[in-house]
Amino acid sequence: MSKSSFVYGDEHFEYEVCFTPDRGQKIAIHVRPDASVQVDAPDGEPAQKIHSTVLKRARWIRNHVLQARAQRAHVLPRGYVSGESHFYLGRRYQLKVSDANGAGPHVKLWRGRIQVESEKRAPEEIRKHLYRWYRQRASGVFGRRLHAIASNVPWLKEVPPLRLLKMRRQWGSCSPQGVVFLNPHLVKAPRDCVDYVITHELCHLKEHNHSRRYYRLLREIMPGWEPVKARLDGMAELLLNE
Ligand SMILES: [Zn+2]
Repeated sequence: MSKSSFVYGDEHFEYEVCFTPDRGQKIAIHVRPDASVQVDAPDGEPAQKIHSTVLKRARWIRNHVLQARAQRAHVLPRGYVSGESHFYLGRRYQLKVSDANGAGPHVKLWRGRIQVESEKRAPEEIRKHLYRWYRQRASGVFGRRLHAIASNVPWLKEVPPLRLLKMRRQWGSCSPQGVVFLNPHLVKAPRDCVDYVITHELCHLKEHNHSRRYYRLLREIMPGWEPVKARLDGMAELLLNE
């Protein structure tokens, strides 16, 4: 067995090649329940050929890896301990929990990790600090993206007000008064997914349903929104698992 990797979007994926003595075996790709990727290939198949087959199916692999991770996340409750994976803008970061050394609780992105410094180390305590940090980040990121997107939406005279609202099953909504509500957990998703949710809600300010007219507006403002939505749907279980 040998390990290789490829990059898709902004994420790095590893795969393991298992050679079989059966020369008639075609290159076959599986995503295991633990979200690892196995590629079966006949003995002596050149690495280059295996790699190009993997690249052709990169999108499929990515989607299945995300699904497998989501399944796992569903059965594994968060522990809020060092080493655990947490997400920010579509990237996976390792959590590092350490002592605050007399200072107040503090969360920062540092050296590719999300570092939580706290006197109290109980998971509930760490979860609270982390959530507060996500909210702060969400408020900045969403505000900037809402501003950028709204300025290209012809039916808006001004940037609508934004509120953060924690929702269990939803990323966003909007009120008849024109307030856009976004779920702070959305800041864990990739930027294009954030843009998609904002655009989706801005279109509702003109069309309040999911009619054909609504989808025409959505396509106008964000052509190619479908795979972005599919990607977000694939991550939902994982990102909403607090
Ligand atoms: Zn909608």
